[in-house]
Amino acid sequence: MARDFLKGTKDSYDVVVIGSGLAGLTSANIMARQGYSVLLLEHHYQLGGMATWFKRAGGHIFDISLHGFPHGMIKSCRKYWTPEIAESIVQLKGVRFENPQFSLRTTFTREDFTRILVEHFGIALPTVQQFFDTARSMNFFDEQSKTTRELFEQFFPGRDDVVRLLMEPITYANGSTLEDPAITYGIVFSNFMQKGVYTFEGGTDALVLKMKAELERNGVDIRIRSLVEKIEVGPDRKVTGVVVNGKRIGCRTVVSNANVKSTIQNLVGEQHFDKKFLDDAKAVRLNNSSCQVYMALKPGKSFDDSCGDLLFHSEHKGFDVDALLSKKVSSRTFSFYYPSTRPGSDRWLVVSSTNANYRDWADLSPEDYEASKKDLIETTLDCLERYVPDIRAKLDHVEAATPKTFEHYTRHLAGSSFGTKFEGLQVSRDLPQQISGLFHAGSVGIIMSGWLGALNYGVIVSNDVDKLLTPSSVSNST
Ligand SMILES: Cc1cc2nc3c(=O)[nH]c(=O)nc-3n(C[C@H](O)[C@H](O)[C@H](O)COP(=O)(O)OP(=O)(O)OC[C@H]3O[C@@H](n4cnc5c(N)ncnc54)[C@H](O)[C@@H]3O)c2cc1C
Repeated sequence: MARDFLKGTKDSYDVVVIGSGLAGLTSANIMARQGYSVLLLEHHYQLGGMATWFKRAGGHIFDISLHGFPHGMIKSCRKYWTPEIAESIVQLKGVRFENPQFSLRTTFTREDFTRILVEHFGIALPTVQQFFDTARSMNFFDEQSKTTRELFEQFFPGRDDVVRLLMEPITYANGSTLEDPAITYGIVFSNFMQKGVYTFEGGTDALVLKMKAELERNGVDIRIRSLVEKIEVGPDRKVTGVVVNGKRIGCRTVVSNANVKSTIQNLVGEQHFDKKFLDDAKAVRLNNSSCQVYMALKPGKSFDDSCGDLLFHSEHKGFDVDALLSKKVSSRTFSFYYPSTRPGSDRWLVVSSTNANYRDWADLSPEDYEASKKDLIETTLDCLERYVPDIRAKLDHVEAATPKTFEHYTRHLAGSSFGTKFEGLQVSRDLPQQISGLFHAGSVGIIMSGWLGALNYGVIVSNDVDKLLTPSSVSNST
């Protein structure tokens, strides 16, 4: 008989959180800490959403999206999770660029980028300082019509090489382009530039298992393999419950960590929204997806630590978003995982990531899809050979993920890795005005994406939920 993953759930909760990405997990934790009854529903068999990992024979553990995040994660994790989680966050100092325009290494801090821009690219110090100050002072309420391209033109006219240095890592980090609003660049770039790039020592599995333990301590009812099919809305346009694995569970509020477009169109249903809002939601553009190749070395084999931690490799002659997304890959980010990533481990791994278009993969026949995956693996190994010369001989395990893989595991429309383009943020923020008690917290609008953006968005939305559910109502919840 099929196992009932919802056995013992209550009839009703204060908050149902749909999805256990970093925004969903954080929302659930904050709401439970405040005394609300919280049910967390995740369709996958493990928590974390994109912040996830998988194991393969031979003792290999691969992280999917643990490449680097800004220093702000330490503060957010200390405040909204635990000091122990915050204390495991460590800096990655070996960031490297290799492309036809330049070859350099950086610690990815403001000081080091200033040095590089002045010494390597010959930009005047006051211009560099002004650029950093301008980026730093940008916020969501600023004018939004200026594009990132215009921002670069203002400070570094005609300098495609400088644009590449400043933009390529951010495009990898959140899929943004030169046509996106300059504020999305300013906010995200400044977050990284504040103090460099950080990672979680111990790996994503250790982080998510620590988060799970904290959720349990705070009383969150966690259910995996639980697919929400429907968000139920009453005639007065108030959330009344969800249908999950065919079972109805009542609730006063829902925080959906599912993709904002699928929350509106698939989980709630178009009939419950004003036409104008629905038109705006339909017009929201999804962000791009990704491909990855996961490579594990045989026990006892290693690579040189001159490889660095993060390597932005490209054979393309300039910065070009279409080339970054193309199935004919010319640019890759390599993440090198040393045994120190997981203290106690003796394993050396490399993960190659590229931004990708969903349609390039979704429309292939099964045979062409398999052949394309094989080709992706072979061309990635060819490329990696430049940095790890005998990689094929050292290899114990290799496999690839495509936009279809991301779609399958996270249910993001078109396997979107970074939610939506900028306009998605307003739709996400306006959702509770359409349906009382319905909130969205998850990758959206470029700014609220990535590990830090998603986690912080979970915090912001929890405050909104709390305002609706006054603390005095807690006792009604069981
Ligand atoms: C290849 C790749 C590399 C990345 N690298 C980095 C990086 O280096 N640094 C960085 O900061 N960010 C990175 N990111 C982005 C980052 O991982 C994400 O932005 C962030 O983890 C998203 O969190 P989220 O809260 O939006 O939820 P998601 O991670 O999108 O999770 C949503 C969850 O909701 C669940 N769900 C959806 N629908 C339902 C339903 N109907 N019922 C039940 N559950 C449902 C899904 O299963 C999923 O678990 C990367 C992403 C990818 C794909």
